[in-house]
Amino acid sequence: MVEQNLRNAIRDIPDFPKPGIIFKDITPILKDPQLCEDIVDAFVDRIKHLKLDVIAGIESRGFLFGLMVANKLKIPFVPIRKQGKLPAKTVAESYKLEYGQATIEVHEDAFPQGSNVLIHDDLLATGGTVVAAAKLIEKLGGHVAGFSFLISLDFLKGEGRLHRFSENVYSLVR
Ligand code: AMP
Repeated sequence: MVEQNLRNAIRDIPDFPKPGIIFKDITPILKDPQLCEDIVDAFVDRIKHLKLDVIAGIESRGFLFGLMVANKLKIPFVPIRKQGKLPAKTVAESYKLEYGQATIEVHEDAFPQGSNVLIHDDLLATGGTVVAAAKLIEKLGGHVAGFSFLISLDFLKGEGRLHRFSENVYSLVR
């Protein structure tokens, strides 16, 4: 039910940000508080057995539900951001894009050593972004307990790249 309502709320924007990409716009979801609550509950249901210490959300759309779910579970939320945005001391990880590369960062004191961390983002495409996030978390001595997404683009086969970190990959819509 929540999956169907979520699917209905996602807006496809063809050729954004460049020709050939169908951008999955999640902003319509945010206008529906009941749907937001149902999505948070659906995530909580799937991940509550993981005994999480922290949810790490990826800039910027990973902040939206990442924070809401962390709040619901009463655990800390940690932002993983693009290079140069976080004010305190950070650790960084670079990864390849179709053209060029990107770098993400997290505060080095973001969580205690040995923490069980769930990585959350709005959408899984090739997996490059969350693989870099998982490496960051391991660099800081955290344990990647799983991954969660609103949407997974299965045809890009990103999920297979995540299993070396964790078998726990939760996507509400594929
Ligand atoms: P990737 O690293 O290839 O898995 O790409 C995932 C990141 O890019 C996520 O942060 C998504 O928000 C964004 N992204 C990639 N493809 C799309 C798409 N078709 N629609 C919306 N966001 C996308």
